[in-house]
Amino acid sequence: MAKDKASKSNPMDPIVALCKRRGFIFQSSEIYGGYNGFFDFGPLGSEIKKNIKDAWWKDMVHRREDVVGLDSSIIMHPKIWVASGHVGGFSDPMVDCKESKMRYRADQLFFAPVKVAGETIGYVSVLEDGAMQAEAEQKADKLKRKAAVQGELEPIVLKQYVDADPSEYELIPSPATGEPGSLTAPRDFNLMFETKVGALSDNSATAYLRPETAQGIFANYKNVVDTGRVKIPFGIAQIGKAFRNEITPRNFIFRSREFEQMEIEYFISPDVDWSEAHQDWIKYCWNWLISIGLPEEMLGKDVHEKLAHYAKACTDITFKFPFGEQELWGIAARGDFDLSQHQEHSGKSMEIFDEASKKKFVPHVIEPSLGVDRLFLAILGAAYTEDEVGGEKRSLMKFHPRIAPYKVAVLPLVKNKPELVEIAEKLYKKLQRRYNVFWDQSGAIGRRYRRQDEIGTPWCVTVDFDTIEKEGQTFTLRDRDTTEQRRVNEAELLAFLDEQLF
Ligand code: ATP
Repeated sequence: MAKDKASKSNPMDPIVALCKRRGFIFQSSEIYGGYNGFFDFGPLGSEIKKNIKDAWWKDMVHRREDVVGLDSSIIMHPKIWVASGHVGGFSDPMVDCKESKMRYRADQLFFAPVKVAGETIGYVSVLEDGAMQAEAEQKADKLKRKAAVQGELEPIVLKQYVDADPSEYELIPSPATGEPGSLTAPRDFNLMFETKVGALSDNSATAYLRPETAQGIFANYKNVVDTGRVKIPFGIAQIGKAFRNEITPRNFIFRSREFEQMEIEYFISPDVDWSEAHQDWIKYCWNWLISIGLPEEMLGKDVHEKLAHYAKACTDITFKFPFGEQELWGIAARGDFDLSQHQEHSGKSMEIFDEASKKKFVPHVIEPSLGVDRLFLAILGAAYTEDEVGGEKRSLMKFHPRIAPYKVAVLPLVKNKPELVEIAEKLYKKLQRRYNVFWDQSGAIGRRYRRQDEIGTPWCVTVDFDTIEKEGQTFTLRDRDTTEQRRVNEAELLAFLDEQLF
């Protein structure tokens, strides 16, 4: 482990431990020591992930008249990645530590000269983190004490390693060893994973695992226009795997090498006000996040000032992760850059005839791009809650019902009363036709409720003595968050769940 990290506890540790304990997420290839940047989703995690994607698809595709879906291949013609600019420019600046063989992203490695009374006594370096300023100041203080110099420590002003003067490379300590002299100059590292397609293994066989799903949409735009009945403005949505050979995968599933994206390309006329369409999408995406349970106070916006040459605007919806506020959903106005590039490289027209204006044009796009895994992490961060029930500490996951892995648990109060168990089983089977339902008949009822709270099941239905002894066959319906209980009959239960789980 890197020296600098050894002394610092990672704010992600409790979430990582929770995910393992509850069967949400595991390190990939764990029995072989793990594989950095790759993750597996366990029984409950795979349900949550599916629910995230289903909710997104329902709200972005099914419930909008102007968006259609697509599922394109992961490996596409390599020329697509030349046209999109990924072969030439999809890279991050990388810096190596020659001593430890560690690799860092030069824009995530920060440094500062340590000055005492106007004189530089050395340098400190830290990795990007919510607490990096405090960490750098601590290191500077240590350096000053070690150097035994008198005088006032000047404020520490951190800069990215990419902005270092070449004369400083030798002076900046490696985060791995704490010593200067082993860091290389930054150089570009292409993030695309290469593979070979076909029997030949020469350069002509080189292909790429897609680093984003968006290009599959642009590559199929003509097919959709020619075969569907889409009219400007319209969107094409896609959910799928993306791969990036990230230099420093970190913060658990926040930045991994294999992840899933949910992307939309929303095509608009070049004559309309693109900034209005952009703002509409930002609002729509923001409200959607709240609708699936993210608290508004944990969200933020980052309006990019530095833009790629083709981009007109980009706003990230950010989330307050345990390691700091970071991008969750990027919403970019990309003009006609992508379609024009494909028009030029493929020689095929990307124009559309707009009935309304009787004009032919290459549309412009607004691109909302969201990572499934990153949203999963945000949901975990927002859902984890500790409270007290009846004087006892309780931990629960307050998942929105649409996201919760199990929607409801059916619990027969006792297992040695066949009449009672039979009614419970019948109800379980009926509910199972519509939802993912948990069956649990062992242990004290309080303990069973806690188990469901811990995995975020919003409601428990208990079949008890009143069910069999009293008129009208009712059940106890218990709410996870309030722990309140009320009696409902089957019709009321079905209607309630139907409304809550729309
Ligand atoms: P970053 O600056 O964090 O590397 P980016 O700006 O390159 O991200 P985009 O290319 O805009 O990211 O990707 C769109 C979305 O895909 C991001 O908002 C994020 O939710 C998700 N995403 C991107 N890279 C990763 C990754 N390595 N792991 C998990 N999710 C990712």
